Amino acid sequence: MLEWKKNVRFVEPYVPGEQPKEEGIIKLNTNENPYPPSPKVVNLKMDLEKLRIYSDPEALELVSAIAGYHGLNNDQVFVGIGSDDVLAMSFMTFLNSDKPILFPDITYSFYDVWAKLLRIPYETKALKDDFSINIEDYYGENGGIVFPNPNAPTCLYMPLDNIRGILDHNRDVVVIVDEAYIDYAGESALSLIDDYDNLLVVRTFSKSRSMAGLRIGYAMGNSELISALNSVKFSFNSYTMNYLQIKLGVESIKDDVYFKDMIAKVKNTREWFSKELKRLGFSYPESSTNFVFATHNRVPAKELFEAAKKEKIYLRYFANLRIDNYLRITIGTDEEMKRLVEFFEKYLTNN
Ligand SMILES: *Cc1c(COP(=O)(O)O)cnc(C)c1O
Repeated sequence: MLEWKKNVRFVEPYVPGEQPKEEGIIKLNTNENPYPPSPKVVNLKMDLEKLRIYSDPEALELVSAIAGYHGLNNDQVFVGIGSDDVLAMSFMTFLNSDKPILFPDITYSFYDVWAKLLRIPYETKALKDDFSINIEDYYGENGGIVFPNPNAPTCLYMPLDNIRGILDHNRDVVVIVDEAYIDYAGESALSLIDDYDNLLVVRTFSKSRSMAGLRIGYAMGNSELISALNSVKFSFNSYTMNYLQIKLGVESIKDDVYFKDMIAKVKNTREWFSKELKRLGFSYPESSTNFVFATHNRVPAKELFEAAKKEKIYLRYFANLRIDNYLRITIGTDEEMKRLVEFFEKYLTNN
């Protein structure tokens, strides 16, 4: 073995959903929004000569647009390159105990990758059979807690009372709630940040704001948490947010009517599509996200996944034991979901 290899940090990376290059596909595998970003974003004229200079290291325009939108002060908001970057920074900043951090066994599969990368001990807690989180699993001693709400890929929303239960038993560690899909669900944990100075709420522009390609994520919490995050960020990379992210992010926040409309459209399609799935023999937890997590009563998920792909319909399949008979299906346009239903109908009749 080459000597230098001893000092290399080897990690098993997170594997994102495929981004196929072929034309004419129906892409329902990475929970992107099927609709474009707000016309205010699409049509914004920008002064690209500004790219000559460094972007604002504090991304103040974007921070203050987000803070204003949520009724917070600027010092309660941290922005980053997608919520993946914000979450990684949060792991680095807050999860430095010798005790294991806790997260569900079935959840966003980046958490264990960051834990391994940053050498943070962790323990997973099994979801109940109905995929809900058993909050008492999180009452013991730990080095911090992270979970998405709604959880992914299970699409289940956990009511705020349960989150309060977890927080009440964890006053001495940071609790991170990853709200990537909250706009499709119920009440946000944001209303709890005044009561719990150890609560960090993380959001993204990638799903409900149709801007996955721009890479904007943010965290909200008590100003001391945000200040700690900024210290780590400024020790790592001052210019995380570029001119385009700042300008276009602000435009998205300004167009709340469009934003709410797109959410309503996706939720409507979700309700229709879920009923169709039931009719076709699928079952699923009630979705509070822009995707459904479904299993068929006869045909294995892997088979359906592969057959759909042959028809240029991309779904997400996880080989993970507990969920290896489930498909995660992003809600697309009505037209796309009709095509998928037609495909299932035909396939299930003939197989
Ligand atoms: C999509 C997703 C993210 C990451 O989103 P980006 O902002 O695009 O990095 C984080 N957490 C969960 C649960 C997600 O589904």
